Amino acid sequence: MCRVECPSCTAATRVAETRSADGGAALRRRRHCPSCGERFTTFERVERGPLKVRKRDGQGQRFDRVKLRAALLGAAHKRPVSAPDVERIVERIEAATAAGGGEIEAERIVELCLAGLQELDGGAYLQYAGTLPDFNPEITASFKAGSVRPARDPAQLPAEAIARGEEHD
Ligand SMILES: [Zn+2]
Repeated sequence: MCRVECPSCTAATRVAETRSADGGAALRRRRHCPSCGERFTTFERVERGPLKVRKRDGQGQRFDRVKLRAALLGAAHKRPVSAPDVERIVERIEAATAAGGGEIEAERIVELCLAGLQELDGGAYLQYAGTLPDFNPEITASFKAGSVRPARDPAQLPAEAIARGEEHD
C-alpha cells in the first residue's frame, strides 16, 4: 500500500482529516505520524501539463503567458487600463485554456483579448486590434457605429491613426 512518509522520521503516516480546498479544486489532508507525533498537511490536486495553443495551421505551441501579457500591455499603452486589469485578462484566458483540457485555439485567445479590453476601454481594444495581422477595418467601423463601448476619453481614440496605419507609440 502507498503511504505518505513522515517528513521527520520517514515512518508511514495516517490521515487525520480530509477537507476540500481551493473551492473544490484540491483536497487538503492533515496527517499524523503515529511513530514520532509529527503533524503535517498534504494537498492533492489535478496535475496540469504546460498549457498549449493550437494555431490555425494546426500546429501546437506552448502557451506563452509573458508574450500574451506584453501584447496586452502594449494595447493598454497610454490608455486607462492598469497592469492588474491586464493580469485579470491573462488569468481568464489561462482558466479558459485549462477548462478546455489545457489547449486553446490561437483565434480564441484573440477573441478573449478583444472581449477583455472592450470591457475596459475602447481605445485599448482598438490598439490591440490594430496589431492583429488580419486586422479587419470593420472593427473600427463597428466602433464608430457604437457597437463597441467608447473609451473613457474619446479625444484620445487612436481610431484615426489605426485607419492611417500609423504607430501608436
Ligand atoms: Zn514521524
